[in-house]
Amino acid sequence: MITNLKMKLQKSIYLTTFFSIISLYVLSGQQILDSKCGYDFMMETYEQQHPGFKTAVSNTFEKIKKSEESPFLRNEILTVDVVFHIVWKENAENLHDSVIFNQLDILNKDYRLLNDNRDEIRELFKDLQADAGIEFKLKGIVRVKTNANFALSLTGLPDNVKNGSNGGSNAISPDKTLNIWICHIRPIPFIGGQILGYAYPPAGLDNWPAGSNAPSAGLDGVVLDFRVTGSNNPNQLTVQGMNYTSLGRTCVHEVGHYLGLRHIWGDGGGIFGGSSCNADDGMADTPNQGSETGFGCDKNNNTCIDAQNDLPDMIENYMDYSDERCQNIFTKDQVSHMRKVLFNQRQGLIEGQVSAYDVAENTSFRVFPNPVTDQAVLHFEENKTGTIQIYDILGKVVFIQKSWIFNSLSYLLTS
Ligand SMILES: [Zn+2]
Repeated sequence: MITNLKMKLQKSIYLTTFFSIISLYVLSGQQILDSKCGYDFMMETYEQQHPGFKTAVSNTFEKIKKSEESPFLRNEILTVDVVFHIVWKENAENLHDSVIFNQLDILNKDYRLLNDNRDEIRELFKDLQADAGIEFKLKGIVRVKTNANFALSLTGLPDNVKNGSNGGSNAISPDKTLNIWICHIRPIPFIGGQILGYAYPPAGLDNWPAGSNAPSAGLDGVVLDFRVTGSNNPNQLTVQGMNYTSLGRTCVHEVGHYLGLRHIWGDGGGIFGGSSCNADDGMADTPNQGSETGFGCDKNNNTCIDAQNDLPDMIENYMDYSDERCQNIFTKDQVSHMRKVLFNQRQGLIEGQVSAYDVAENTSFRVFPNPVTDQAVLHFEENKTGTIQIYDILGKVVFIQKSWIFNSLSYLLTS
């Protein structure tokens, strides 16, 4: 009897504590609204449900850092197919195609450094600004009318939007396609809180902790609130009296997580917010930053004073929470990290983009088409001798011919 009471008491304390933690998270400094995305919330709730999750994510992050970008494709444009799922209940949530096209255009501009505000980067960060060389191609728009609600809960995120039998829409080929779900993300019932979107990181895919039941492939992708999709959205998100102006960069930020990036402040404050200059985002070329930039574009922000090479916070970074209007940079290290993910953990997204490399940038030697799937033509405009090797997108040799005498002809190469 005494034991039972003790157990009940412990359970009650646990539930009360957990409830308090979530309430604090929701209420302290409008954390969830300011949070912009549910990344921290997801990390903490998944760790509670599947101990080992955070370690797996961290191990994968370090593995990515040590991996190689294909040396033959440093300058190649990588194309990712995208499917948008519009899961709607009210008519306003059923976004017009023009909003989706606009969102796709923003993704393509920001990931190719073609954004109109790219030159507004401060001079001290200018040399770090990089073209990610990643393009996004629309594969389809799926529309599902639903009666379901997609709400945050005390234990996690509204992943029912990804399940057709729960009123959502099933992922389409998530190993080969970036799935983006757009829905009305609702606050935690009776508590409140709002996030604008979330994404799962490439957390191993093959090194999840055994038995963790960590997110399945069908959950992989990005979820966005319908009011922060695109920059031509007729809907306005208002939370606690504040209007949120969307420029379509919630999606840019979430795709950054999907491709392995952390928040620029390294999430040292945990789900409670706060500041930590000891946590790092793992990128060598981003300044040490202790906490997120809330609303605003204050260029005087400097949350960590370093003894040497002190730099202000990089409020222009897409992985911060600053106003979307002042965001205009992925750094070189961030770009390298995302491309490594595409060559390794998420290589299914770029499979088939087998490419050839013009070793000497020699105009007398051409391989086409490029990229190629099965057959390519090798063309020489003058006689040459030597060895030719052709590599696939992962740097593997797919064709080799030694001691050839090349006449000024075209050769058909078949895989
Ligand atoms: Zn985030």
